[in-house]
Amino acid sequence: MTSSDPIANLATLIRCPSVTPAEGGALTALAAMLEPLGFTVERMIASEPGMPDIENLYARIGTEGPHLMFAGHTDVVPVGDEAAWTHAPFGAEIAGGEMFGRGAVDMKGGIACFVAAVARHIERHGPPKGSISFLITGDEEGPAVNGTVKLLEWAAARGERWDACLVGEPTNPDRLGDMIKIGRRGSVSGAITVHGVQGHAAYPHLADNAVRGVIALTDALMHPPFDAGTENFQPSNLEVTTIDIGNPATNVVPGKASASFNIRFNDTWTAETVMAEIVRRLDAAARDGKLRPGRAPVRYDIKWAERPSHVFLTRNNQLISSLSGAVEAVTGLAPKLSTTGGTSDARFIKDYCPVVEFGLVGQTMHMVDERVAVADLETLTVIYETFIARWFGDAVA
Ligand SMILES: [Zn+2]
Repeated sequence: MTSSDPIANLATLIRCPSVTPAEGGALTALAAMLEPLGFTVERMIASEPGMPDIENLYARIGTEGPHLMFAGHTDVVPVGDEAAWTHAPFGAEIAGGEMFGRGAVDMKGGIACFVAAVARHIERHGPPKGSISFLITGDEEGPAVNGTVKLLEWAAARGERWDACLVGEPTNPDRLGDMIKIGRRGSVSGAITVHGVQGHAAYPHLADNAVRGVIALTDALMHPPFDAGTENFQPSNLEVTTIDIGNPATNVVPGKASASFNIRFNDTWTAETVMAEIVRRLDAAARDGKLRPGRAPVRYDIKWAERPSHVFLTRNNQLISSLSGAVEAVTGLAPKLSTTGGTSDARFIKDYCPVVEFGLVGQTMHMVDERVAVADLETLTVIYETFIARWFGDAVA
C-alpha cells in the first residue's frame, strides 16, 4: 500500500473528524502513511494546566543533513452549520471534480500532497540525500499553545536541527501558482481604559467625560499612518476593534470608557518599537487639549494582549528559488513572493530555520462546503516533488 496518491491520502485524512482539540484519528492515519516509507514516527502530547492535552506528530527519514522540514496541522475548524453543507463535512465525497470536506484546503490537502510527493521521490530516487521530517500539530486552529511552539522546543531539545522549512498552508488566492509567502507581518493587540469622572450631563465642569478621552486617544492611533510600506511589505495598519462605554442614560456623563485595537505591522518596526510608538501617540493625545480644553491630561491605562506575533522576512535564496522555480516549472506561473495575510505557525518556525509557505488555493478555507479541485491535488504533488528534488540537488551541490 503506497501513499503516493494525494487523492486517497486526503480522503483518508478528511474522514478523521479532527476538530481542535480532537486528534480524530488523523495523526494515526498520517503515521500509517509515513511508516511504510521508512519514516520514524513519534507522537508528542503537550499539556498545559486548564487546557485539553494536544497530540502532535514528528516524523523523520534520514539521519544526515541537509534537513528539510515540512510543517502543518491536521486539526480543523468546526463544521459550522452542518445542514448547509452539500456533502458531508467528513465524507471526502468527490463531485464536479472537487473533493468536499473540512480541512480539504486548510490544510489536510497540503499534507496529503506532501506525503505523496515524498513517496514518489523515494520511489524514483530512493531515500533523500539528507533528511526529510514532518512536524505536524493538532493545535493550530485553536489556542496554538500546545502545538508547533512546544513541538519545536521538544524536537530541538532532542538535537533536531533543520536547514529549511516549507509550511503547507493554503497560500494561493485564486489559482495554484499565484503566491508563495516568504514572511509575515507582526501583530500586536491592546486595550486602553480611560478613567474620567462620572457626573450630571448638565454640570459637565464637575465631571470628566471619558468619551472625550477615548476619542482623542483612538484618533491618535488611527492617524497619521504608521509608515508607507516597505520593499516586501504593505503599510502597517491599526484597527480600533471596539469602543465600550455602556452608558444607558442620556443625562449621565460616563466616567469610564475602554477601547481595543490590533495593529498588523511591517519590518519598519519590531513588536517592541511599535508598542513604544503606540504609547508615545497615546501620551501625546492625552496631553492634547482639543476635546478637553483646560483639563489635565487624560488618565488612561493600557493592557497588551499576551504574546505579540513578530514580523519576519525569509531571505534564504536557495529555499525561495527552489520553491518558486518548482511552481513555475509545473504551472507556468511565476508566483508572487508575498508577506500579506494573517499570521501562521511560520512565525514560530522562523526562529529555528528559514521558512516559506506554499499550499492549495485558500478560497473555501473555514467555510461551509470547504473543497479542493481534485486536479490541484495532483498539481501540488508534482510541485512539491519538484521542489524536493531541486532543494536537495541544490543543497548538496
Ligand atoms: Zn491552516
